[in-house]
Amino acid sequence: MTRPGQDTAWSLGVHGGAGVNRGEALLPDHRAAIRSGLETALTAGARVLEGGGSSVDAVEAAVRCLEDSPWFNAGRGSVFNARGEIELEASIMEGRTLAAGAVAGLRGIRNPVTLARRVMERSPHVFLHGEGAIAFATAEGLETADADWFWTEHRWKAFERARGIAQASAPQPGEHGTVGAVALDTAGNLAAATSTGGLTNKWLGRIGDTPIIGAGCYASNAACAVSCTGQGEYFIRATIARDIAALIEYGGQDAQTAARLAIEQRLAKIGGEGGAVVVDRSGTIAFAFNTEVMLRGKVSRDSPSRVGIHLADLC
Ligand code: ASP
Repeated sequence: MTRPGQDTAWSLGVHGGAGVNRGEALLPDHRAAIRSGLETALTAGARVLEGGGSSVDAVEAAVRCLEDSPWFNAGRGSVFNARGEIELEASIMEGRTLAAGAVAGLRGIRNPVTLARRVMERSPHVFLHGEGAIAFATAEGLETADADWFWTEHRWKAFERARGIAQASAPQPGEHGTVGAVALDTAGNLAAATSTGGLTNKWLGRIGDTPIIGAGCYASNAACAVSCTGQGEYFIRATIARDIAALIEYGGQDAQTAARLAIEQRLAKIGGEGGAVVVDRSGTIAFAFNTEVMLRGKVSRDSPSRVGIHLADLC
C-alpha cells in the first residue's frame, strides 16, 4: 500500500532488439506487428506497476508478451541455430537484493523468462543450462510448446539465406528481435529481464550475452536496471550492462550518458554493434544504440506509452 506522501512514480522500458533494417525484415506489416507487440508488452508491464506490483513482476509480464509474439527473436519467433533448431536463453535480475536467475540451451519451454525467475527464486543457483534447466522447468510445471509453436516462416527463410551466403556455420549478426524490459516500481525497486533465441545460424551450444548477468542484463538499486541487445560476443567481452551501472554508480553519470558511453565508445571500440535500455532510480528511461534500428518503447506514471524503431523516432 502506498503511504501518503510516498513517491508513487513508476516507469517501464522495453526493447525488441537492435540491428540492421533489412528490407524484408521490416516490411510495413512487420513494422505494424512490431509496434503492436511492443505496445502490448508496455500495457502488460504498466498494469502491474500501476497496481503497485513489483518491478520483477512487471519485467516478467512484459517479456512474456514479447516471447509469445512470433515477431520477436525470443520464445516463439526465435531464430534457428546451425542445425535448424531453436535454443533459447533468458535472464532476470532484481535490483534490491541483486538476486538473479538465468537459463540457456532451452528447448520447448514456452517462456524462458519465467524459468529464469524460478531459478532466481526457487533454486540455490543463478544459471542453469540444457538438460538441467529443462528438468527444473518440468519439475516446476512450466508450460512447454512443440516445434510448431516456435517455427516461423520469416525466421526459417533467414536461416536458409544465412546458410546460403555464410561461410560454414558462421552466425548471422544484424537480425533484430531479442527482447528485454527494465522497470522501476512504486516501492523504488529496479529490475531487468532479457530473452532471446540468439543469432541465426549460431553454433549448437553457443551462448550469448542475454543470460549472462552483467553482460546482457543487470539491475542494482544503487544505480539502474539494464537490458541489452546486439552481437552477444562483444557485449560479453565489454560487460556492457554492468559497465552502464558502474558509470552511474561510481562515475556519477546520468542514465543517458552512461548508456551512450558504453555503447558508442566501449562496445564500438571493439567492433560490436547493438543497444541497451536503461532505467535509473529516478525512473528516467534511456536508450542507446549504434545500429540502424532499435525496436523500443517506454511508459511511465507521468507519460503515455511511446514506441520507436529508427533513431529519429521520438522515444
Ligand atoms: N544479444 C543476442 C545474442 O547475441 C542477440 C540479439 O540481441 O539480437 O544472442
